[in-house]
Amino acid sequence: RQRQMCIRDRLFKGDVLRVFFHGRIISVAIVLAFLVGCTPSSEDGEGVAPANSSSQVFRWKMITTWPKNLPGLGVAPERLADHLRVMSNGRLDIKVYGAGELVGGMEVFDAVSQGTAEMGHGAAYYWRGKIPAAQMFATVPFGMTAQEMNGWLHYGGGLELWRELYKPFDIVPFTTGNSGVQMGGWFNKEILSVDDLQGLKMRIPGLGGEVLARAGGSPQQLPLAEVYTALQTGVIDATELVGPYNDLAQSIHTVAKYYYYPGWHEPGSTLETLINKGAWESLPPDLQEMIAVATRAINEDMLSEFTAKNNAALDVLIEEHGVELRAFPEDVIYKLREISKGLVKESMQENDLSRRIYSSYMEFLESVENYHRISEQAFLEARADASTN
Ligand code: CA
Repeated sequence: RQRQMCIRDRLFKGDVLRVFFHGRIISVAIVLAFLVGCTPSSEDGEGVAPANSSSQVFRWKMITTWPKNLPGLGVAPERLADHLRVMSNGRLDIKVYGAGELVGGMEVFDAVSQGTAEMGHGAAYYWRGKIPAAQMFATVPFGMTAQEMNGWLHYGGGLELWRELYKPFDIVPFTTGNSGVQMGGWFNKEILSVDDLQGLKMRIPGLGGEVLARAGGSPQQLPLAEVYTALQTGVIDATELVGPYNDLAQSIHTVAKYYYYPGWHEPGSTLETLINKGAWESLPPDLQEMIAVATRAINEDMLSEFTAKNNAALDVLIEEHGVELRAFPEDVIYKLREISKGLVKESMQENDLSRRIYSSYMEFLESVENYHRISEQAFLEARADASTN
């Protein structure tokens, strides 16, 4: 492969001063550099993709834990696949499957691990039965918000620990979506005090469910598809879901009366893309980079969409469907918070890695909380006060 000195190389190596003072030359030169199609290459040739990689097409399957195209959660993998197809000029061609189309929603992790599909989309707390510490990478009761999770995962060492945790399963995880603070859930029974939690049959998975159990409730594990009927027939008194935008689309308001806040159990649920390690390593560096960047874009995109659409959906639920909005009483929140602190720590003692993940998460939360108390929280309180005057 013949290497030629290109205009872009000269720009960086020789003509810095001239370019600095003559902005117009930069734009002309950069356009020319792209026209002649030369790549900036280091002296030792590192980072230059093999010549044959530019034409190879990768046709991948992406399995998900969501119903196909479910608003919010389910459109994320579709958008990711669309971005990657365009960005790669068709070289990364990903077909997305909804839950149950290729494998069941709860089988996504194993299927990607075994290479049945190259890629998956889900949330790490679904794999808690196999890997308890995975829950820390989805959400933790009274834990980090979306903004804080992103800070920890991308700049606080979180992502490295996540990759270490999934490594024995031959899976490489990426952040790919965040719901923001969820709602507390749908209830057919009012919660006026801690006493009302006694015997409460609520569909609430994961650590949140364990917290409810210790508070006297009866957490139920039900697939999303069965929640509607279970509420309608009184098999359960309550269920948590996501937030107004997502929940309105599922018509849960037709079988439940009260909509409680806040979602103490899911303050910033992170969704994940799972990639089979062998499949990941088979990709040339440019396609790997596209996946790294596109998953980050979808991670931010989902939070933006929920932020934009939850408000309007909540209005529809209240004004058109007569849903009654309720806040959890203070004593209930206090009780659940006190239980959560101990329970999360106990749940993360399985091995050295679990303990390291727990410590990293909690140390980050503590430090960011100190700052957010005088920034985000102080500002939101200041703004709220101003708006009531
Ligand atoms: Ca939820």
